[in-house]
Amino acid sequence: MLDVLNKRIEDKTKDLVALTSALIRIPTINPPGDAYIPCAELIGNRLAKRGFQVEYIRAHDTPGDSDKFPRTNVVARIEGKGPGPVVHFNSHIDVVEVGHGWTVDPFGGEVKDGKVYGRGACDMKGGLAASIIAVEAYIETNPDFRGAIEISGTVDEESGGFGGVAYLASKGLFSKPRVDHVIIPEPLNKDRVCLGHRGVWWAEIETFGTQAHGSMPFLGDSAIRHMGSVLHSFETELYPQLAQKHTDMPVVPEGAKQSTMNINSIHGGESEGGGHGKPEDYTGLPSANVAESCRVILDRRFLIEEDIATVKGEVINILEGLKRDRESFDYAIRDIMEVLPTMTEQDAPVVNAVSDGIRQVLGKEPDYVISPGTYDQKHIARIGHLHDCIAYGPGILDLAHMADEYVGIDDMVASAKVMAQATHALLAGVQT
Ligand SMILES: [Zn+2]
Repeated sequence: MLDVLNKRIEDKTKDLVALTSALIRIPTINPPGDAYIPCAELIGNRLAKRGFQVEYIRAHDTPGDSDKFPRTNVVARIEGKGPGPVVHFNSHIDVVEVGHGWTVDPFGGEVKDGKVYGRGACDMKGGLAASIIAVEAYIETNPDFRGAIEISGTVDEESGGFGGVAYLASKGLFSKPRVDHVIIPEPLNKDRVCLGHRGVWWAEIETFGTQAHGSMPFLGDSAIRHMGSVLHSFETELYPQLAQKHTDMPVVPEGAKQSTMNINSIHGGESEGGGHGKPEDYTGLPSANVAESCRVILDRRFLIEEDIATVKGEVINILEGLKRDRESFDYAIRDIMEVLPTMTEQDAPVVNAVSDGIRQVLGKEPDYVISPGTYDQKHIARIGHLHDCIAYGPGILDLAHMADEYVGIDDMVASAKVMAQATHALLAGVQT
Protein backbone atom coordinates (compact mmCIF):
# COMPACT_ATOMS: atom_id res chain seq x y z
CA MET A 1 0.00 0.00 0.00
CA LEU A 2 2.69 2.50 0.93
CA ASP A 3 4.71 1.52 -2.13
CA VAL A 4 1.73 2.27 -4.35
CA LEU A 5 1.36 5.66 -2.72
CA ASN A 6 5.06 6.46 -3.07
CA LYS A 7 5.05 5.43 -6.70
CA ARG A 8 2.01 7.58 -7.38
CA ILE A 9 3.79 10.61 -5.92
CA GLU A 10 6.93 9.94 -7.97
CA ASP A 11 4.75 9.77 -11.09
CA LYS A 12 3.43 13.22 -10.22
CA THR A 13 6.84 14.89 -10.00
CA LYS A 14 6.31 16.95 -13.16
CA ASP A 15 2.92 18.10 -11.90
CA LEU A 16 4.47 18.99 -8.54
CA VAL A 17 7.18 21.12 -10.20
CA ALA A 18 4.68 22.81 -12.52
CA LEU A 19 2.37 23.60 -9.61
CA THR A 20 5.24 25.07 -7.57
CA SER A 21 6.30 27.26 -10.51
CA ALA A 22 2.72 28.37 -11.12
CA LEU A 23 2.34 29.40 -7.46
CA ILE A 24 5.65 31.30 -7.54
CA ARG A 25 4.56 33.20 -10.67
CA ILE A 26 1.77 34.85 -8.69
CA PRO A 27 3.57 37.64 -6.79
CA THR A 28 1.76 37.49 -3.46
CA ILE A 29 4.05 40.03 -1.83
CA ASN A 30 3.17 41.07 1.71
CA PRO A 31 3.09 43.90 2.50
CA PRO A 32 0.92 45.10 0.87
CA GLY A 33 -0.80 41.72 0.32
CA ASP A 34 -0.83 41.60 -3.46
CA ALA A 35 -2.47 39.03 -5.76
CA TYR A 36 -4.05 36.97 -2.98
CA ILE A 37 -7.22 36.25 -4.97
CA PRO A 38 -5.55 34.75 -8.09
CA CYS A 39 -3.33 32.61 -5.86
CA ALA A 40 -6.27 31.42 -3.74
CA GLU A 41 -8.18 30.65 -6.96
CA LEU A 42 -5.30 28.69 -8.46
CA ILE A 43 -5.50 26.38 -5.43
CA GLY A 44 -9.30 26.41 -5.20
CA ASN A 45 -9.95 25.74 -8.90
CA ARG A 46 -7.52 22.85 -8.93
CA LEU A 47 -8.99 21.19 -5.84
CA ALA A 48 -12.62 21.81 -6.90
CA LYS A 49 -11.91 19.72 -10.00
CA ARG A 50 -10.85 16.89 -7.73
CA GLY A 51 -14.02 16.85 -5.68
CA PHE A 52 -13.15 19.33 -2.89
CA GLN A 53 -15.68 21.78 -1.51
CA VAL A 54 -13.96 25.15 -1.85
CA GLU A 55 -14.62 28.23 0.22
CA TYR A 56 -13.05 31.66 -0.19
CA ILE A 57 -13.04 33.58 3.04
CA ARG A 58 -12.12 37.26 3.11
CA ALA A 59 -10.98 38.54 6.46
CA HIS A 60 -12.80 41.85 6.39
CA ASP A 61 -11.41 44.65 8.53
CA THR A 62 -8.23 42.84 9.53
CA PRO A 63 -4.93 44.75 9.24
CA GLY A 64 -4.24 45.69 5.62
CA ASP A 65 -7.60 44.47 4.28
CA SER A 66 -9.06 46.74 1.60
CA ASP A 67 -10.87 46.33 -1.71
CA LYS A 68 -7.52 46.84 -3.41
CA PHE A 69 -5.72 44.31 -1.19
CA PRO A 70 -8.42 41.94 0.09
CA ARG A 71 -7.30 39.36 2.66
CA THR A 72 -8.77 36.38 0.81
CA ASN A 73 -8.10 32.87 2.10
CA VAL A 74 -9.02 29.57 0.49
CA VAL A 75 -10.17 26.50 2.42
CA ALA A 76 -10.85 23.24 0.57
CA ARG A 77 -12.30 20.10 2.12
CA ILE A 78 -13.02 16.63 0.84
CA GLU A 79 -15.16 14.16 2.78
CA GLY A 80 -14.26 10.49 2.86
CA LYS A 81 -16.62 7.55 2.65
CA GLY A 82 -17.51 7.53 6.31
CA PRO A 83 -16.91 9.29 9.59
CA GLY A 84 -13.37 9.64 10.89
CA PRO A 85 -10.73 12.14 11.86
CA VAL A 86 -9.90 15.29 9.90
CA VAL A 87 -6.39 16.09 8.70
CA HIS A 88 -5.66 19.67 7.67
CA PHE A 89 -2.69 21.01 5.68
CA ASN A 90 -2.26 24.75 6.15
CA SER A 91 0.11 26.86 4.07
CA HIS A 92 0.50 30.60 3.86
CA ILE A 93 0.40 31.97 0.33
CA ASP A 94 2.06 35.33 1.06
CA VAL A 95 5.76 35.95 0.48
CA VAL A 96 8.13 38.66 1.69
CA GLU A 97 9.46 41.42 -0.53
CA VAL A 98 12.05 40.55 -3.16
CA GLY A 99 15.04 42.55 -1.89
CA HIS A 100 18.34 42.67 -3.77
CA GLY A 101 20.90 40.30 -5.22
CA TRP A 102 18.78 37.99 -7.36
CA THR A 103 20.36 36.26 -10.37
CA VAL A 104 17.04 34.73 -11.51
CA ASP A 105 13.59 36.24 -11.99
CA PRO A 106 12.08 36.11 -8.48
CA PHE A 107 8.64 35.47 -9.98
CA GLY A 108 9.73 33.30 -12.90
CA GLY A 109 9.38 29.91 -11.20
CA GLU A 110 12.49 28.81 -13.06
CA VAL A 111 13.57 25.15 -12.84
CA LYS A 112 17.33 24.53 -12.87
CA ASP A 113 19.58 21.74 -11.57
CA GLY A 114 16.81 19.94 -9.73
CA LYS A 115 15.55 23.07 -7.99
CA VAL A 116 12.67 25.47 -8.41
CA TYR A 117 13.69 29.10 -7.91
CA GLY A 118 11.75 32.15 -6.87
CA ARG A 119 10.47 34.23 -3.99
CA GLY A 120 8.42 31.88 -1.85
CA ALA A 121 9.87 28.69 -3.44
CA CYS A 122 11.02 27.51 -0.03
CA ASP A 123 8.81 29.68 2.21
CA MET A 124 6.42 28.11 1.43
CA LYS A 125 4.93 27.51 -1.99
CA GLY A 126 7.06 24.37 -2.41
CA GLY A 127 5.56 22.97 0.79
CA LEU A 128 2.05 23.96 -0.27
CA ALA A 129 2.50 22.22 -3.64
CA ALA A 130 3.95 19.12 -1.95
CA SER A 131 0.94 18.89 0.38
CA ILE A 132 -1.52 19.22 -2.52
CA ILE A 133 0.25 16.48 -4.50
CA ALA A 134 0.46 14.30 -1.36
CA VAL A 135 -3.28 14.59 -0.72
CA GLU A 136 -4.23 14.06 -4.37
CA ALA A 137 -2.08 10.93 -4.55
CA TYR A 138 -3.58 9.67 -1.30
CA ILE A 139 -7.16 10.16 -2.47
CA GLU A 140 -6.48 8.50 -5.83
CA THR A 141 -4.93 5.44 -4.25
CA ASN A 142 -7.37 5.30 -1.28
CA PRO A 143 -10.73 6.31 -2.74
CA ASP A 144 -12.56 4.69 0.18
CA PHE A 145 -10.77 6.62 2.91
CA ARG A 146 -12.74 7.64 5.98
CA GLY A 147 -12.73 11.02 7.69
CA ALA A 148 -11.92 14.19 5.79
CA ILE A 149 -8.96 16.13 4.46
CA GLU A 150 -8.62 19.89 4.28
CA ILE A 151 -6.11 22.08 2.49
CA SER A 152 -5.97 25.79 3.16
CA GLY A 153 -4.02 28.62 1.56
CA THR A 154 -3.97 31.50 4.01
CA VAL A 155 -2.70 35.07 3.90
CA ASP A 156 -0.56 37.41 5.95
CA GLU A 157 1.58 34.88 7.83
CA GLU A 158 4.59 37.11 7.18
CA SER A 159 2.85 40.01 8.92
CA GLY A 160 1.40 38.13 11.89
CA GLY A 161 -1.37 36.03 10.32
CA PHE A 162 -4.23 38.20 11.59
CA GLY A 163 -6.15 38.15 8.29
CA GLY A 164 -5.22 34.51 7.73
CA VAL A 165 -5.05 31.69 10.24
CA ALA A 166 -5.98 33.90 13.22
CA TYR A 167 -9.15 35.00 11.45
CA LEU A 168 -10.10 31.49 10.36
CA ALA A 169 -9.37 30.15 13.84
CA SER A 170 -11.67 32.78 15.33
CA LYS A 171 -14.42 31.39 13.05
CA GLY A 172 -13.88 27.86 14.37
CA LEU A 173 -12.04 26.51 11.34
CA PHE A 174 -9.08 25.33 13.41
CA SER A 175 -10.95 23.67 16.28
CA LYS A 176 -12.43 20.31 17.03
CA PRO A 177 -14.66 18.76 15.80
CA ARG A 178 -14.03 20.42 12.45
CA VAL A 179 -10.29 19.57 12.48
CA ASP A 180 -8.23 17.05 14.49
CA HIS A 181 -4.67 17.18 13.14
CA VAL A 182 -2.82 20.06 11.47
CA ILE A 183 0.39 19.97 9.45
CA ILE A 184 1.92 23.28 8.36
CA PRO A 185 4.41 22.64 5.51
CA GLU A 186 6.85 25.42 6.49
CA PRO A 187 10.43 24.83 5.25
CA LEU A 188 11.95 23.03 8.22
CA ASN A 189 13.69 20.34 6.10
CA LYS A 190 12.30 16.97 5.05
CA ASP A 191 13.70 15.04 8.04
CA ARG A 192 12.63 17.41 10.81
CA VAL A 193 9.43 17.67 12.81
CA CYS A 194 8.95 21.18 14.15
CA LEU A 195 7.03 21.07 17.42
CA GLY A 196 6.59 24.79 17.96
CA HIS A 197 8.35 28.10 18.34
CA ARG A 198 9.89 30.57 20.79
CA GLY A 199 7.90 33.53 22.09
CA VAL A 200 8.06 37.10 20.80
CA TRP A 201 7.69 40.49 22.38
CA TRP A 202 7.86 43.57 20.18
CA ALA A 203 7.87 46.95 21.84
CA GLU A 204 8.66 50.54 21.00
CA ILE A 205 10.68 52.65 23.41
CA GLU A 206 10.72 56.40 23.02
CA THR A 207 13.01 58.82 24.82
CA PHE A 208 12.21 62.50 25.08
CA GLY A 209 14.26 65.69 24.81
CA THR A 210 13.88 69.39 24.25
CA GLN A 211 14.49 71.04 20.90
CA ALA A 212 17.16 73.70 20.52
CA HIS A 213 19.53 74.98 17.86
CA GLY A 214 22.26 72.45 17.08
CA SER A 215 24.95 75.07 17.60
CA MET A 216 23.83 75.52 21.21
CA PRO A 217 22.83 72.01 22.29
CA PHE A 218 23.26 73.03 25.93
CA LEU A 219 20.01 75.00 25.54
CA GLY A 220 18.14 71.79 24.70
CA ASP A 221 18.19 68.18 25.80
CA SER A 222 18.95 65.44 23.28
CA ALA A 223 16.55 62.50 23.10
CA ILE A 224 19.20 60.70 21.03
CA ARG A 225 21.77 60.93 23.83
CA HIS A 226 19.18 59.60 26.23
CA MET A 227 18.54 56.68 23.87
CA GLY A 228 22.30 56.17 23.73
CA SER A 229 22.25 55.60 27.46
CA VAL A 230 19.46 53.04 27.03
CA LEU A 231 21.46 51.16 24.40
CA HIS A 232 24.57 51.32 26.56
CA SER A 233 22.66 49.76 29.46
CA PHE A 234 21.36 47.05 27.14
CA GLU A 235 24.93 46.25 26.10
CA THR A 236 26.35 46.18 29.60
CA GLU A 237 23.42 44.75 31.58
CA LEU A 238 20.75 43.13 29.42
CA TYR A 239 22.68 41.31 26.69
CA PRO A 240 25.00 39.51 29.15
CA GLN A 241 21.88 38.49 31.11
CA LEU A 242 20.18 37.11 27.98
CA ALA A 243 23.27 35.15 26.99
CA GLN A 244 22.95 33.24 30.28
CA LYS A 245 19.46 31.98 29.51
CA HIS A 246 19.42 28.63 27.76
CA THR A 247 16.49 26.47 26.86
CA ASP A 248 15.89 22.75 26.92
CA MET A 249 13.68 23.23 23.86
CA PRO A 250 15.37 21.76 20.75
CA VAL A 251 15.61 25.12 19.01
CA VAL A 252 17.55 25.34 15.75
CA PRO A 253 19.89 26.90 14.85
CA GLU A 254 22.04 26.49 17.95
CA GLY A 255 22.39 30.27 18.51
CA ALA A 256 18.63 30.52 19.07
CA LYS A 257 18.80 28.18 22.08
CA GLN A 258 19.33 31.28 24.19
CA SER A 259 17.19 34.35 24.65
CA THR A 260 17.79 36.94 21.95
CA MET A 261 16.92 40.55 21.32
CA ASN A 262 17.24 42.50 18.11
CA ILE A 263 16.84 46.24 17.81
CA ASN A 264 14.81 46.32 14.62
CA SER A 265 15.05 50.06 14.03
CA ILE A 266 16.09 53.37 15.50
CA HIS A 267 14.79 56.79 14.57
CA GLY A 268 15.81 59.99 16.24
CA GLY A 269 15.52 63.69 15.64
CA GLU A 270 14.61 65.03 12.28
CA SER A 271 13.21 62.46 9.85
CA GLU A 272 15.42 61.63 6.91
CA GLY A 273 12.59 62.59 4.63
CA GLY A 274 12.70 66.17 5.94
CA GLY A 275 9.55 65.79 8.02
CA HIS A 276 7.00 63.71 6.19
CA GLY A 277 8.77 62.61 3.03
CA LYS A 278 10.20 59.28 2.06
CA PRO A 279 13.80 58.34 2.91
CA GLU A 280 14.74 58.68 -0.77
CA ASP A 281 13.83 62.37 -0.58
CA TYR A 282 16.60 62.89 1.93
CA THR A 283 18.94 65.64 0.78
CA GLY A 284 21.81 64.81 3.08
CA LEU A 285 21.46 68.28 4.55
CA PRO A 286 19.46 68.14 7.74
CA SER A 287 18.98 71.32 9.69
CA ALA A 288 20.72 71.85 13.00
CA ASN A 289 18.36 70.61 15.68
CA VAL A 290 18.58 68.96 19.05
CA ALA A 291 16.30 65.90 18.92
CA GLU A 292 13.12 65.98 20.95
CA SER A 293 12.30 62.32 20.30
CA CYS A 294 14.13 59.08 19.64
CA ARG A 295 12.47 55.70 19.15
CA VAL A 296 13.66 52.12 18.91
CA ILE A 297 11.71 48.97 18.13
CA LEU A 298 12.76 45.93 20.18
CA ASP A 299 12.29 42.38 18.96
CA ARG A 300 12.78 40.12 21.95
CA ARG A 301 12.55 36.34 21.42
CA PHE A 302 12.04 34.31 24.56
CA LEU A 303 12.11 30.76 25.73
CA ILE A 304 9.44 28.43 27.10
CA GLU A 305 11.24 28.64 30.47
CA GLU A 306 10.72 32.44 30.64
CA ASP A 307 7.49 34.23 31.41
CA ILE A 308 6.49 37.35 29.55
CA ALA A 309 6.20 39.49 32.69
CA THR A 310 9.85 38.85 33.52
CA VAL A 311 10.87 39.48 29.91
CA LYS A 312 9.21 42.89 29.97
CA GLY A 313 10.37 43.58 33.52
CA GLU A 314 14.05 43.29 32.53
CA VAL A 315 13.69 46.12 30.05
CA ILE A 316 11.51 48.27 32.27
CA ASN A 317 13.95 47.92 35.17
CA ILE A 318 16.70 49.35 33.00
CA LEU A 319 14.51 52.25 31.92
CA GLU A 320 13.39 52.97 35.48
CA GLY A 321 17.01 52.83 36.65
CA LEU A 322 17.96 55.48 34.09
CA LYS A 323 15.00 57.58 35.13
CA ARG A 324 16.35 57.53 38.68
CA ASP A 325 20.01 58.09 37.85
CA ARG A 326 20.16 60.16 34.69
CA GLU A 327 19.20 63.81 34.74
CA SER A 328 16.02 64.71 32.80
CA PHE A 329 15.66 61.17 31.42
CA ASP A 330 12.11 60.20 30.55
CA TYR A 331 10.67 57.50 28.37
CA ALA A 332 7.53 55.83 27.10
CA ILE A 333 7.14 52.18 26.20
CA ARG A 334 4.44 50.69 23.99
CA ASP A 335 3.71 47.01 23.35
CA ILE A 336 3.38 46.17 19.66
CA MET A 337 2.95 42.43 19.74
CA GLU A 338 3.35 39.50 22.07
CA VAL A 339 3.19 35.79 21.34
CA LEU A 340 3.83 33.12 23.94
CA PRO A 341 6.09 30.18 23.10
CA THR A 342 4.24 27.07 22.00
CA MET A 343 5.32 23.45 21.82
CA THR A 344 3.33 20.34 20.86
CA GLU A 345 4.06 17.24 22.92
CA GLN A 346 6.47 14.85 21.26
CA ASP A 347 4.03 11.94 21.63
CA ALA A 348 1.08 13.73 19.98
CA PRO A 349 -0.64 11.75 17.17
CA VAL A 350 0.44 14.08 14.37
CA VAL A 351 4.06 13.94 15.60
CA ASN A 352 3.99 10.13 15.62
CA ALA A 353 2.41 9.94 12.18
CA VAL A 354 4.93 12.27 10.53
CA SER A 355 7.83 10.70 12.42
CA ASP A 356 6.86 7.25 11.11
CA GLY A 357 6.62 8.68 7.61
CA ILE A 358 10.15 10.08 7.90
CA ARG A 359 11.47 6.72 9.12
CA GLN A 360 9.81 4.87 6.24
CA VAL A 361 10.60 7.31 3.46
CA LEU A 362 14.05 8.51 4.50
CA GLY A 363 15.19 5.55 6.57
CA LYS A 364 16.33 7.71 9.47
CA GLU A 365 15.16 8.98 12.80
CA PRO A 366 13.48 12.39 12.61
CA ASP A 367 15.00 15.40 14.34
CA TYR A 368 12.63 17.26 16.62
CA VAL A 369 13.10 21.01 16.47
CA ILE A 370 11.67 24.29 17.63
CA SER A 371 11.62 27.26 15.28
CA PRO A 372 13.47 30.41 16.39
CA GLY A 373 10.66 32.56 14.95
CA THR A 374 6.93 32.13 15.17
CA TYR A 375 4.54 30.97 12.48
CA ASP A 376 0.82 30.33 12.32
CA GLN A 377 0.85 27.47 14.86
CA LYS A 378 0.42 30.11 17.58
CA HIS A 379 -3.09 30.98 16.36
CA ILE A 380 -4.12 27.34 16.04
CA ALA A 381 -3.00 26.69 19.62
CA ARG A 382 -4.22 29.92 21.21
CA ILE A 383 -7.40 30.72 19.28
CA GLY A 384 -8.37 27.28 17.98
CA HIS A 385 -7.27 25.46 21.17
CA LEU A 386 -5.99 22.70 18.90
CA HIS A 387 -2.67 21.31 20.04
CA ASP A 388 -2.14 18.44 17.63
CA CYS A 389 -0.25 20.68 15.23
CA ILE A 390 3.28 20.75 13.84
CA ALA A 391 5.28 22.25 11.03
CA TYR A 392 6.74 19.81 8.55
CA GLY A 393 7.81 20.56 5.01
CA PRO A 394 10.55 20.66 2.36
CA GLY A 395 13.12 23.40 1.96
CA ILE A 396 15.97 24.81 3.95
CA LEU A 397 14.87 27.34 6.54
CA ASP A 398 18.01 29.46 6.09
CA LEU A 399 17.02 30.18 2.46
CA ALA A 400 13.70 31.71 3.44
CA HIS A 401 13.53 35.44 2.70
CA MET A 402 16.93 35.42 0.92
CA ALA A 403 17.89 36.20 -2.68
CA ASP A 404 17.78 33.25 -5.13
CA GLU A 405 15.48 31.33 -2.80
CA TYR A 406 14.83 27.80 -4.06
CA VAL A 407 13.33 24.46 -3.11
CA GLY A 408 14.81 21.12 -4.12
CA ILE A 409 12.58 18.89 -6.25
CA ASP A 410 13.78 15.69 -4.56
CA ASP A 411 13.05 17.26 -1.18
CA MET A 412 9.54 18.13 -2.26
CA VAL A 413 8.91 14.60 -3.51
CA ALA A 414 10.28 13.03 -0.32
CA SER A 415 8.27 15.30 1.95
CA ALA A 416 5.12 14.73 -0.14
CA LYS A 417 5.58 11.00 0.51
CA VAL A 418 5.96 11.65 4.23
CA MET A 419 2.83 13.83 4.24
CA ALA A 420 0.81 11.23 2.34
CA GLN A 421 1.91 8.45 4.68
CA ALA A 422 1.13 10.59 7.71
CA THR A 423 -2.33 11.30 6.28
CA HIS A 424 -2.90 7.58 5.85
CA ALA A 425 -1.71 6.81 9.37
CA LEU A 426 -3.91 9.51 10.91
CA LEU A 427 -7.04 8.68 8.91
CA ALA A 428 -6.74 4.91 9.09
CA GLY A 429 -5.58 4.94 12.70
CA VAL A 430 -2.47 3.06 11.61
CA GLN A 431 0.33 3.14 14.14
CA THR A 432 3.52 1.42 13.19
ZN1 LIG B 1 6.71 30.74 6.13
